[in-house]
Amino acid sequence: MSSNIKDLIIVGSGMGGALTGVLNQDKETLILEKEPNLGGCASSFKHHGYYYNTGATTLVGYEENHPLKRIFDKVGYTPNLKRSSIAIRTIQNGKVLDRVKDFETFLKALDEVYYHPNNRLFWETIKTLDELFWQLKSVHYAKHSLKAYQKTLSCVWELYGTFKNLLFKEASSYINEVLPNISKEYQAFIDAQLLITVQSSSKNIPLLSMALGLSYPFHDVFYVNNGMGQIFKELLEPLNVQKNEEVLKIEKHKNVLLVKTRKEEYQTKNVVINLPIFESFKLFDDYDSYLFYEQFHAHEQSAFVVYLKIKSKEKFLHHYQLILNKQIAHTTSQAMFVSFSDSEDTVLSKDGYSVTISMHTNVNFWKQLSISDYEVQKHRTQTQMIKEFLACFETLKAEHIESFFSATSKTFQRYINRSNCGGHVLTIENMLRFPACTTPFKGVYHVGDSVFAGQGWPGVALGVEVLQEELKRRF
Ligand SMILES: Cc1cc2nc3c(=O)[nH]c(=O)nc-3n(C[C@H](O)[C@H](O)[C@H](O)COP(=O)(O)OP(=O)(O)OC[C@H]3O[C@@H](n4cnc5c(N)ncnc54)[C@H](O)[C@@H]3O)c2cc1C
Repeated sequence: MSSNIKDLIIVGSGMGGALTGVLNQDKETLILEKEPNLGGCASSFKHHGYYYNTGATTLVGYEENHPLKRIFDKVGYTPNLKRSSIAIRTIQNGKVLDRVKDFETFLKALDEVYYHPNNRLFWETIKTLDELFWQLKSVHYAKHSLKAYQKTLSCVWELYGTFKNLLFKEASSYINEVLPNISKEYQAFIDAQLLITVQSSSKNIPLLSMALGLSYPFHDVFYVNNGMGQIFKELLEPLNVQKNEEVLKIEKHKNVLLVKTRKEEYQTKNVVINLPIFESFKLFDDYDSYLFYEQFHAHEQSAFVVYLKIKSKEKFLHHYQLILNKQIAHTTSQAMFVSFSDSEDTVLSKDGYSVTISMHTNVNFWKQLSISDYEVQKHRTQTQMIKEFLACFETLKAEHIESFFSATSKTFQRYINRSNCGGHVLTIENMLRFPACTTPFKGVYHVGDSVFAGQGWPGVALGVEVLQEELKRRF
């Protein structure tokens, strides 16, 4: 057993764990990561000599008023980024729409592809709500102590003061009001964009979530040079990080928490868990924890990702969204998100483009298959996805593909201990029951995209700031 008591142990080096780690590097902090690669869903890895991003390929939120920028600035870290001039190109039935930052340019292009007389009103409202949100001063959501509830209440008060009745409005009813008789194609475009950012279509989500989800291309969207994993390598360089060390159990003792791995037993006063909250019951054997974690249920949504190495002299944008008319086997949406490595990236684009194509899929489907059927079905989905991808890029042919393989929810489970991927969807119904970073147990906290505030860099960084406020009371 390690003799000294750590101030803080962080279980996992995903976005949430890593950002919490750097903010607490002045303390005796230890990060334990199961994998050799840091970053979880946002890591990068090497496969047969080529590098790929595991999941996340875009970075948003490196700008004023955003938590990610505040955190990086606070610790003096400058990421190696390249701005994507076009955040994402959407292709649907041969129609092309570029999501660019400049509002008037975007609106003009939108009117050409999805005309509606109220387009300006709709998108101006969406953009304004997003801007107002990122200017809020006291975003907070925590439970299990009087102070936490007080801070949360004052945040709700500020939210209400800012958004008034729009705060409780449903996204779908807002669409029906402002964009009456919206075409099927236009609705599919909106829903496909939302699926990337909020993991849900416009049904059931609040208007504010829709505004935040649809507005990301109005911000600076960045490509991370040398792979997303590079950020974690650089950020965590000065910290005490143990890779290849999976936490198996956490025991709660009177004055200390015992964190057990196969190699060591560490003592700490505080632990931040970066596993999804609904997977965290596995770490505890006591009955109180069982009762607490039992209330959180994993959603069934996950990702199917095809990884390709493509040799081509063509120039590509960083990101495309291909909205299909047909259903690809074993996927749950009709949109593919495609990311190309930047042609000047000396790591990812060495010997060709590193490309990922991702779609949504259902965890339960992959879980119930036999080993042999699993391979057959995986192959089927992969083949159909590659075929549709090639159909959208006239100049690309099968012979340009040097290497390909794919990941299902089972693959994500094997590597990073989570079969569901993407954040926890904030719906109208679960708004007040949403998991928080705090738990009823002294010194036990959560961070990441399964607890407040959301997925991806902007959401997870915001959640990290909320957690940091709560942690301050412990140190
Ligand atoms: C296909 C895909 C594409 C995406 N694209 C984008 C994008 O372009 N931009 C964006 O901002 N977001 C994107 N996202 C979302 C984003 O990647 C996630 O929301 C975010 O990375 C989740 O971070 P997290 O803090 O929850 O940690 P996770 O990524 O869940 O990481 C948790 C870490 O904990 C480790 N761990 C698990 N169990 C243990 C244990 N017992 N002991 C020790 N370590 C453990 C894991 O190995 C992992 O490293 C994408 C997600 C997916 C799946």
